[in-house]
Amino acid sequence: MATKQELKNAVCKAIDRNSERIIGLGERIRRQPELGFKEFKTARLAEETLGELGLKPRSGLALTGVRAEAAGVKDGPTFALLGELDGLVVAGHPIADPETGAAHACGHNAQMAGLLGAAMGLCEARAFEHLAGRVVFFAVPAEEYGDVEWRVQQARAGRLEFLGGKPELLRLGHFDDVDLAMMIHTNWRREDGKAGVPASNNGRVGKTARFIGRAAHAGSAPHLGVNALYAAQIALAGINAVRETFRDDDSIRVHPILTHGGSQVNVIPGDARLEMYVRGKSAEGVADASAKVDRALRAGALALGARVEIETLPGPMPLLCDPSMAKLFETAARGLVGDEHYRNIPHRSGSTDMGDLSQIMPILHPYMGGATGTGHSAEFRIVDPQLGYVLPAKALACMAIDLLAEGGTGAREVLKTAKPPMTREGYLAFQRGIAKRERFDGTA
Ligand SMILES: [Zn+2]
Ligand SMILES: [Zn+2]
Repeated sequence: MATKQELKNAVCKAIDRNSERIIGLGERIRRQPELGFKEFKTARLAEETLGELGLKPRSGLALTGVRAEAAGVKDGPTFALLGELDGLVVAGHPIADPETGAAHACGHNAQMAGLLGAAMGLCEARAFEHLAGRVVFFAVPAEEYGDVEWRVQQARAGRLEFLGGKPELLRLGHFDDVDLAMMIHTNWRREDGKAGVPASNNGRVGKTARFIGRAAHAGSAPHLGVNALYAAQIALAGINAVRETFRDDDSIRVHPILTHGGSQVNVIPGDARLEMYVRGKSAEGVADASAKVDRALRAGALALGARVEIETLPGPMPLLCDPSMAKLFETAARGLVGDEHYRNIPHRSGSTDMGDLSQIMPILHPYMGGATGTGHSAEFRIVDPQLGYVLPAKALACMAIDLLAEGGTGAREVLKTAKPPMTREGYLAFQRGIAKRERFDGTA
């Protein structure tokens, strides 16, 4: 029986032999960015690559997800390795899809390269002959939460319930047999070093507000109109005014955008629309801030004598990394990037639907470097292909060995101490309870 270290060496060598192929996959996906739940080309590439390794992937899960599993020689826990398929729309990105505007400005192409590279290493080195339990290789859709109107339409048509990939996969039962899970997100922040685990991440809700006024001739009869754009503007001022009541500890972020502000310039806008997130460190903090935002939205409608329809949508839950898995990763990552490049990362105010999984099972969501520019900006790019694409593959594969070698004792230890706050049913009920539509009439 090979030791964990011998297995890791063999798997990392196999990954090195495949490094050009792994980098090639990361670059190919970077050049074919697709929006969430529409990642058909990327999903096909994942399916083909996993199939070439002798695995039997299933596709079309939550519209575009792809999942394959490999079993060890003994019973044991099931560990899922995840990679996110989607890009997002960033104005001015140099490698954006000309039709959809999608771009890989968050490094999900690198996640996919890392996931597929880990599968290559574990399969080629025949690691499963020494492992217990199962590894699930899971390409998951729609982590970025944009394109909201289209997703809401899909939900109304019954093709989705939740608007994010992992919640939808959870709902459909594709994580029912998974005991613990992990993914690695690309990092662009220099202060976070080359690898590190965050203490926690914010959760959030999504919100849309549609102000309904009355269109009228802007030159000859503005007094007959009700200006929906100004109602939205007052709502935005209200949101900005309540910011000073947010507690530092709650790490609240509210960031609205105006998605529609009028039909044409000589018409008083009868319809104006906002979209926003309300983020925070805890579900309670998000709920408190969300109620204040709703009040500001109503105030905008009231001031102008307009109406407003507010729709609150469940979003990613706050993320907590499992401390035992974090320790295993720290040891592996220090070996891969060097002690001096490892960091313990403080709370992150961004959010991810990996947080949803963290509510029901032990998970790990470390960051690894290799990127420059700011995430979600036109300047974001992978500048170190080894660190961005290849080392995450090694880190994921080493975690599978740490958890599932020696009869899966590593994973069993994690499961013994982990106390995820929710059951799957409790999670689904909580998220369904967040979805809310309100019509406020400010004309009275
Ligand atoms: Zn992102
Ligand atoms: Zn991301």
